[in-house]
Amino acid sequence: MQTPGHAVVNLAILTSAVTPEHTLPILAGAILPDVPIVVLYLREHYLRGLPEERIWRESYQQPFWLNLIHGAHSLPLTLLGTLVGVAAGSSMVAVFFGSMLLHSLADLPLHAEDAHRHFLPFSHYRFISPISYWDVRYHARKVALVEALLVAGAAAFLWRDSSLVARLLFVAVVAWYAVTYWRAFLR
Ligand SMILES: [Zn+2]
Repeated sequence: MQTPGHAVVNLAILTSAVTPEHTLPILAGAILPDVPIVVLYLREHYLRGLPEERIWRESYQQPFWLNLIHGAHSLPLTLLGTLVGVAAGSSMVAVFFGSMLLHSLADLPLHAEDAHRHFLPFSHYRFISPISYWDVRYHARKVALVEALLVAGAAAFLWRDSSLVARLLFVAVVAWYAVTYWRAFLR
């Protein structure tokens, strides 16, 4: 799933269960697992000038980056963090790791050949899903459309209780989905 989508969907799932002060840990937990990917992309593309295709084929495949990215998408580790937060009585910590856990659960069925090792550090198993949100060999045109509609639905669900800034961000995310869909599949 695309990173901005995780943020909107996690907000829709978690906000009704917690108080408004938890918005920041929800957003941080929703975005953090993909931060290494963004850092890698920006570094390789803008500092080293590598074309996109080489970034995913070469840079992304280096063990350092794969371990970092897959580790941040670990179901056992994010579950452990959530439980530690609950046990310590810190709802902020629990919600932060709970949001990371939701991110990882959402990615699990949507990655095919680029599946993360979601069960680190216990197993290197990768679930190769029959569907992908970006790979057209795995029904990405349909999957990405469903994802975009789901994110738009989550934004609509959050709309009434959101501030003006949040509403502008929702509009920006949905517009970004429309543009990336057009660039990836329709152009
Ligand atoms: Zn992810």
